[in-house]
Amino acid sequence: PVNRPPGVQEARMKLPVLAEEQAIMEAINENDVVVLAGETGSGKTTQLPQFLYEAGYARDGKMIGITEPRRVAAISMSRRVGFEMGLSSENVSYLIRYEGNVTEKTQIKFMTDGVLLKEIQSDFILSRYAVIILDEAHERSVYTDILLGLLSRIVPLRRRRGNRLKLIVMSATLRLEDFVQNEKLFRIPPPVINVESRQFPVTVHFNKYTREDYLKEAYLKACKIHTRLPPGGILIFVTGQQEVRALVRNLRKAFPYRRMEIGSEKEESNSVKLEESESEDDFPHKKNPKVKRSDEIHLPIIDLDEYPVVSSGDVDEDELVLSDDNRDMEEEIDDPKATRAPMWVLPLYSLLPGHKQAKVFEPPPPGSRLCVVATNVAETSLTIPSVRYVVDCGKEKRRRYDKTTGVSAFMVTWTSKASANQRAGRAGRTGPGHCYRLYSSAMFNDQFEEYSIPEMQRKPVDDLVLQMKAMGIHRVINFPFPSPPGQEQLQASERRLILLGALQRREGSSEDDWAARITSLGQSMATFPVAPRFAKMLALSHQQDLLAYTICMVAALAVPEVLIDTAGNKETAAFRRMWAGTGNSLLLGDPMVLMRAVGAAEHAGTTGGLASFCEKHALRLKAVVEVRKLRLQLTAEINSAIPDLDLVVDPQMPPPSDEQARLLRQLLLAGLGDQVARRVDPETIKDEEDKMKWKHAYRCGELEEPVRIHSTSVLRREYPEWVIYQEVYEVEGQRLFMRGVTAIEPEWLPSLAPALCH
Ligand code: ADP
Ligand code: MG
Repeated sequence: PVNRPPGVQEARMKLPVLAEEQAIMEAINENDVVVLAGETGSGKTTQLPQFLYEAGYARDGKMIGITEPRRVAAISMSRRVGFEMGLSSENVSYLIRYEGNVTEKTQIKFMTDGVLLKEIQSDFILSRYAVIILDEAHERSVYTDILLGLLSRIVPLRRRRGNRLKLIVMSATLRLEDFVQNEKLFRIPPPVINVESRQFPVTVHFNKYTREDYLKEAYLKACKIHTRLPPGGILIFVTGQQEVRALVRNLRKAFPYRRMEIGSEKEESNSVKLEESESEDDFPHKKNPKVKRSDEIHLPIIDLDEYPVVSSGDVDEDELVLSDDNRDMEEEIDDPKATRAPMWVLPLYSLLPGHKQAKVFEPPPPGSRLCVVATNVAETSLTIPSVRYVVDCGKEKRRRYDKTTGVSAFMVTWTSKASANQRAGRAGRTGPGHCYRLYSSAMFNDQFEEYSIPEMQRKPVDDLVLQMKAMGIHRVINFPFPSPPGQEQLQASERRLILLGALQRREGSSEDDWAARITSLGQSMATFPVAPRFAKMLALSHQQDLLAYTICMVAALAVPEVLIDTAGNKETAAFRRMWAGTGNSLLLGDPMVLMRAVGAAEHAGTTGGLASFCEKHALRLKAVVEVRKLRLQLTAEINSAIPDLDLVVDPQMPPPSDEQARLLRQLLLAGLGDQVARRVDPETIKDEEDKMKWKHAYRCGELEEPVRIHSTSVLRREYPEWVIYQEVYEVEGQRLFMRGVTAIEPEWLPSLAPALCH
């Protein structure tokens, strides 16, 4: 029996999946695999676990497991479901990469797809679960795709053992061929239940022209909607966290929302800098007093004489077609007399702390209009109530890899038609809505792909191949992927893993044998939750006095963008130069800087000065917090693997000695043996033009273009002859740069990276 809090049942009854509960449960009882498709917001994620729970699937100590591609969703959905069922986090829990609240009593478990994949490695038949729900399968994340392949085999295995496992695949789109009509995956196509949801019509408005500066366009469009159109929430899609924050800041400035603090004279506006209010919740020894619980928010004081009342009557449809030409808006907005109703502007992106994300589900304060500025997160995984206007920049940020050279670049590109339509759909959940696309219909028709390419076919799959081999799946090429990675992609991964020593070709076998076996080094690498090259460094770092440094270095390297690029800032450069030190420490280069930065931040964290420390030293606070979690996790994992080691994350950890720094350089080379570059000697170049082109440049592997050390590297001026690097990436089409550079000695090469010395 479920005891739901008051009001919850009424709200549930309005969700489209509730009407289908019986049909859904019958299909699940009769079939081992069921596909459930339904628009975002129809109640799949929050309700399916409840149906299953009420039907007894969480009995006898078994669990209902739900996977999410995003951590945000795993956390917020577990909270929501727990709340709706009147159960605590002991029973409805979550587990993501570094944290969770799972207990012995957990019955409903939300987790990221990567977490479930790890569980399969230690318990292939997933014996603790009675049901697995793969949520957001349409997103086609690498891990969800692998899980689908694995589960297509685990389900029949469990059935043969007389201990059935149910699999439910949930999708927000009807594009299901890859799952359903895929005979390699399911010989008999699973039944599909399509939840019809009440989607109100959404009028789509294209811009006449596509302008470069979509952030500005988005700002102007939001201003226009807010000042001219009837009430209703606005949801703006941009591409990344930085953009979200910038736009939130500007909109708050344009339409400030003020509240009075009871018991103090201080007036506060919601335009407080985001940076300030983002606390370091993850450092429990310090609570940031600036973080407010939602119940401390006081009613706004709105002077009706000062604020024009937004018209709520019927509006001429024509007026809703906000003209594409935003130019005139700038003056209008700058006009000090044009006072406006306040806007309740909230950010939404994956790395935002949970309690801040939860704010988007609460109604805005009376008299203000809700405006959520979001990344892709709001496309399908979270539904924000009462959105009536969607503003879509049409772009998304993606890391693009060159399949053969491995060069990567973050690129903002057009999203797919399917994604753009998902975004538009967000405006029609509670009533008819409007979607303003900040690009032309010609752009949409000619430049947008129909669907996004599954992640698995876009990026290197080294990690995936290693994990699968560790599970005993040797012929990865034969694995039933919903859409398999390309041959050359798999081959390149196997080659890199062989070079790392994680895999070994069988005696006398050829490149296209596809059955390289995992080595014992590979097995231990597979246990670490980091990329194979970092895992190798951990697996090789046996010396006790070195391990703590290796962990710190790997954790710092595994989290992106710990150091903020403050190009040209002298103070920042001086700190980094100081951290780099001299001798082997300096030659260890950028990883040394990272390690010192993280170590110093850890120390600052114990005295409560983390946020200001990060600001002063140009470190990204969120990244530093993440590094810390990873460090704790890696330390715990190594402690459990090596009894009596008792490693700790020591806030007083001294910098490595010169000898230790030298060993760390060698250890890095062990992981980066395929990413070695050598300085080009200008004397060897005849052509004058080429001389310029190759000045201060390096030759990297098979790349034909010169590669330079990035200006933010501490080794930039040292210009060592042999280096290894974390990555090569491309800036503005042509120029190639190395990031994360460490100097190595050529005599280390033959023994450690034989493949390079032909
Ligand atoms: P789907 O998975 O089909 O997209 P969900 O189950 O996520 O749908 O959402 C169903 C409804 O529950 C939506 O209207 C959404 O706004 C609401 N909802 C989800 N999470 C919360 C929350 N934390 N607070 C309030 N409402 C929520
Ligand atoms: Mg959902």
